[in-house]
Amino acid sequence: MAGKSKFQAIRGTRDLLPPATALWNRVEETARAVFLTFGFGEIRPPIFESTELFARAVGGETDIVSKEMYTFSEQMDAPPASPGADTPAAGVAGSSLSLRPEATASVCRAYIEHGMAQLPQPVKLYYLGPMFRRERPQKGRYRQFYQIGAEVLGGSDAPAIDAEVIEMVMEFFGRLELPGVQLDINSIGHAAPNCRRGYVAALRSALEKVKDQLGADSQRRIETNPLRVLDSKLAHEQPIIQALPRISDHLCDDCKAHYAAVERELELRGVPYQENWRLVRGLDYYMRTTFEITAAGLGSQNAVCGGGRYDGLVELLGGPPTKGIGFAIGEDRLILSLEARERSLAPAGPVSVYIAWMGERAQSAAQRAAKTLRAAGFSVELPPAEQKLGKALERASKLNSRYALILGDNEVADGLWTVKTLADGSQQKLTEPELRDFLGRARG
Ligand code: AMP
Repeated sequence: MAGKSKFQAIRGTRDLLPPATALWNRVEETARAVFLTFGFGEIRPPIFESTELFARAVGGETDIVSKEMYTFSEQMDAPPASPGADTPAAGVAGSSLSLRPEATASVCRAYIEHGMAQLPQPVKLYYLGPMFRRERPQKGRYRQFYQIGAEVLGGSDAPAIDAEVIEMVMEFFGRLELPGVQLDINSIGHAAPNCRRGYVAALRSALEKVKDQLGADSQRRIETNPLRVLDSKLAHEQPIIQALPRISDHLCDDCKAHYAAVERELELRGVPYQENWRLVRGLDYYMRTTFEITAAGLGSQNAVCGGGRYDGLVELLGGPPTKGIGFAIGEDRLILSLEARERSLAPAGPVSVYIAWMGERAQSAAQRAAKTLRAAGFSVELPPAEQKLGKALERASKLNSRYALILGDNEVADGLWTVKTLADGSQQKLTEPELRDFLGRARG
């Protein structure tokens, strides 16, 4: 029964508890297994970094950086900044630090810091872990949430790389049998006057003409970031947006060819997609391919993965010109979408055994058996104190154990084990090798 305790998890954060965590583990193990087959290695960047890193990489004007970061300053008892430095270096007293709102910035920083440009290119990295944004909590949106992401840095911007990254996410979702998966793709060109910049100008002037019919947010964005108007979910703005100029009519020839080649590569890989001209990203270093994947059962927060190409980012952070593409999967949403289906499946996990022992001789036999069975991968409950048989069986069924191994003085004397199948109450006496065979067969 849930009680009201003095301390509670902070709004927008939550405890992930068993048995739900079993699914989290399965998702993470599947991600690792799939990403490994595509040649990705794991990176574990720190949870906090200099605020400036995120301001640069995510963009100072974005909601994430301007409103949503958990920012704090390094305590003054840290080593003092070097004399004459006007902004304290990260990690030095007075410097500004932030909990990471995303991980691409950290991966790019690490790529530069560790001279990964010297390694064979491209460098393929994946990460998983918590991210922090002060957003308004709701179903599928938390302040501490979990992402699984990957980045391909360096080498070329061959369309096959874009397609392979997308193929990898889709393979991962396929392996999990995620329901209702839909992949949307778009190209947002590059920040040149004859490409995206030209489009933004055309979009802005078209928006000016319909300004009076737009809501306050969209009106403001005409100036600050007109591409974001395309994201609007307001019902009355939809017909207006449908009539706006589309980026596909403004792409330069190189970007057009790149986009067509990404589509061809996806088709060759058998990855179904749909074009979505409204899928955009507002920052200059994003270019060409963008994609988003949605899944069933999530209501309005139905995006489980967002990704795209960001060829200018490493250079923006002080590194060499470097191609880059990556994605981030929202693990919380992925799990929400899987959960409904999982509930109807038989619980996975190891075969579980409860050892009901009675008497001193049985206790040491029980301890030896627990050790052997655990080493063989079975889940074993060994009560710390002797219990009457009735109590032991009651507890075994409360714990959902599959079998009870009953060990009393008689069993020990005969060298036999009484094995009770809790689902149907049947029982039999087995020698130790027979028991091992029996449990091995139960595992399938
Ligand atoms: P983004 O880093 O904003 O491109 O987000 C990538 C993915 O992370 C989204 O598609 C969501 O699935 C997930 N995500 C972003 N913000 C949150 C949040 N506050 N709570 C839960 N998931 C989130």
